[in-house]
Amino acid sequence: MISEQEARAQILEAVRPSPPRQLSILEALDCFAAQDYLGRLPLPTFDNSAMDGYAVIAADCRPGATLRLIGEQPAGLDRQLRVTSGAAVRIFTGAPVPEGADAVVMQEEVTRDGETITVNTAVYPRQYIRERGCDLVVGEKIVAAGERIRATTVALLASQGFETVSVGPEVRVAIISTGDEVVNPGEPLQPGQVYNSNSVLLQSLLRRFPGVFSATQHCGDDRDSLRRALTAGAKNQLVIVSGGVSVGEHDLVQATLRSLGARIHIWRVAIKPGKPFLFGRLGDCLFFGLPGNPVSAFVTFLQFVRPAILKMLGASNLELSTLPARLVVDLANDGERVHYVRGRLEEGNFTPVGRQESHALHGLSQANALLRVAAGESLPAGAEIEVRVWE
Ligand code: AMP
Ligand code: MG
Repeated sequence: MISEQEARAQILEAVRPSPPRQLSILEALDCFAAQDYLGRLPLPTFDNSAMDGYAVIAADCRPGATLRLIGEQPAGLDRQLRVTSGAAVRIFTGAPVPEGADAVVMQEEVTRDGETITVNTAVYPRQYIRERGCDLVVGEKIVAAGERIRATTVALLASQGFETVSVGPEVRVAIISTGDEVVNPGEPLQPGQVYNSNSVLLQSLLRRFPGVFSATQHCGDDRDSLRRALTAGAKNQLVIVSGGVSVGEHDLVQATLRSLGARIHIWRVAIKPGKPFLFGRLGDCLFFGLPGNPVSAFVTFLQFVRPAILKMLGASNLELSTLPARLVVDLANDGERVHYVRGRLEEGNFTPVGRQESHALHGLSQANALLRVAAGESLPAGAEIEVRVWE
């Protein structure tokens, strides 16, 4: 049995980055940038008006001053107008500020009479002018390699004229559920059978990742079906097997993988739930064997599969988000495995929820946070803790 940290390190070491792909900026939403992107245009790109009003020379203006209108500059092509002393240009929000002008007066602060305006206020130099480069300068980082491209990143890339962006590769995943007792929803349930919840759990978790495509299949606990499923799965970059990795006579995943020539790098990790976790590789395909108990499958997915997929996708942050919380009850872990306690985080309070057993799917479904309690660790009620969240 190896430690959770050792297992993670070995898994991440085994992940080899694939070449990035080029996507339209919109398709790249939620993907991870494959390189740094730097500003190539200043923002604003030119001095422009923040208001509908008049472009003026501030020094010409005091309450009662009159100015001659020499033209109009709407947003759009620069009409190359020039403001000289005593003159003003009608201007609109976003329009380039004409040469010579150093301020904009709001139209509400001006009385217009034909081609003459009377200014009704004091005017300060640079007022209502949005200066070139005040938001972003050329060369400033707009997104770093490995960072997630958010809706606002897409907008910023567009503002720079980028049509496409280089992001991490697609990842194809095969999900193989195992178990003679497991049947898919929709089929009648015979005595002794259970419905397959792991396949859809894993599919749902995978849907959160950009560019990850998964297909599922189920196979019974016999070597032939397992051999076929694992061989087909190996055509993907990653295979997630649910069940069949424990020590019973019907747990044939490890032996079948070995018979296909796979190397098993990890089997059994000091983590609760999830001890029978298995990791190996066959050719370039990474195999993750998750215990069949739903909570074990969930926790080992988050701790071992998730970071591997994120690394494949080119993400720089492989960690779950953490939130500060206050523990509501006493908790002690007197076992020798790190314990991930499922609980509910509400208004900064973390309360364990449901039965803390690896089969307890209902309890898991009520949880929205995990608390890591190290082996031998005791935490008193009231302790300031950090919990991990996955949604
Ligand atoms: P195993 O890891 O194959 O020994 O399975 C451990 C427990 O998880 C057993 O109670 C199984 O019935 C259950 N189990 C296995 N696969 C699934 C699945 N796909 N969906 C729900 N429960 C499962
Ligand atoms: Mg089984």
